[in-house]
Amino acid sequence: MTATESPPPPPPPPPGGAPAPASPLLLWLLVAGAVGGAAAGAIGGKPAAETLGWMGDLFLDALRMVVVPLVMASLVCGVSAIGDVRGLGRAGLVAVLYFLGTMLLAVVLGLLLVTLLRPGEGAGPGVLTAAESARFSAKADVGLPDLARSFVHPSLLDAMARSLVLPCIVFSLAFGAALTTLGEKGRPVLAVVDGVNEALLRVVHWLLWLAPLGVLGLVAGRIGATGGGGAAMEEFRRIGAYMLVVILGLALHGLLVLPLLLRFLGGRNPLTYARGMLPALVTAFSTASSSATLPVTIECISDNNGVSRKAAGFLAPLGATLNMNGTALYEAVAAVFIAQAYGIELGVGALAVVALTAVLAAVGAAGIPEAGLVTMVLVLQAVGLPLEGMGLLLAVDWFLDRCRTMVNVWDDGVGAAVLERLAFRPGMGPAAGTPLP
Ligand code: ASP
Repeated sequence: MTATESPPPPPPPPPGGAPAPASPLLLWLLVAGAVGGAAAGAIGGKPAAETLGWMGDLFLDALRMVVVPLVMASLVCGVSAIGDVRGLGRAGLVAVLYFLGTMLLAVVLGLLLVTLLRPGEGAGPGVLTAAESARFSAKADVGLPDLARSFVHPSLLDAMARSLVLPCIVFSLAFGAALTTLGEKGRPVLAVVDGVNEALLRVVHWLLWLAPLGVLGLVAGRIGATGGGGAAMEEFRRIGAYMLVVILGLALHGLLVLPLLLRFLGGRNPLTYARGMLPALVTAFSTASSSATLPVTIECISDNNGVSRKAAGFLAPLGATLNMNGTALYEAVAAVFIAQAYGIELGVGALAVVALTAVLAAVGAAGIPEAGLVTMVLVLQAVGLPLEGMGLLLAVDWFLDRCRTMVNVWDDGVGAAVLERLAFRPGMGPAAGTPLP
């Protein structure tokens, strides 16, 4: 599939013999895996979850195995493409401003919907068990210094072993930037890292053929664990109005706002681009983790959609960690929903505080399942809403998490195309696959 519109140029030559775009067969198998998994979990309940769940865990572990080395190698290559430290600063700044801007758009959309549709009225107060209460209160004690400290880690190897992506990103950015200042001495190292990066992407390409079974296992496992389709529907019915508002917001943002940005800022055909992103979107839905999906995201952005390897390698890891439009929208809707359920009227000032803290809480959320639920404590605290209100959201969060993770991964894909155009101008460094001098 091509990345641009008519007349379609031939796809860029595969870098270093890199893999071809995902085949239509794989796309169909992925969709079949998701639908089959949902049916198996809905009908088979817990026994189906036990029988099929291991395939999902296997796929998830395989993805996690490549995330850290791939993030590090692709960031070093991406930074080297920018060329020098000042260029890096500029590209990084444009990327961060773009990420914050799109998150704010998502939050404003969510706030408009939740204040117009008022899903929380009559929902009543929430209840938390002692364990849940302790989990959320622990987050309430996290201050700015803790947030700052999460960017570094005393041991790089320990951070890698525990898949702490943020310190690995910070290290790789600094290491890549340092390499670009070394001239001749840095080149052999860059050439090795470039080769490592290509090899890891090849592994991811192979892994994708496991994805249909992995997706089937993950989806069946999750729906089955709730007790099957009937039990899941029962959970959904209780706070259906809230779920509908979150899903409507995510759909409008993902199907309208982001495609418009992709069309007008990125110059891409949104339908073609979305088709190329499909493996990553299905993986995001089934894993509920943008970090675990990252290898597939990079593969889809570069191989299927023709964004240069270097731009994708630089922008996708940053996006997966910082840019969470779906999470930001969800946090804002959920906070106002809780206020409505408790009969607390939030004025314009309080809504502005909700908007800003929702963006910050989304930036602070790791790309792992239900991270957004936990960082929402920050939003509730900022406007003095009761933590117990979160009890209203817990039963359905597993499902909404999957929906917002899809949007989080989609906005990383859109962001890579837009930012490649805005911040990664030709001439900033070698193009994808260009052999290092
Ligand atoms: N699960 C989401 C992600 O990985 C984060 C969240 O909980 O909102 O993108």
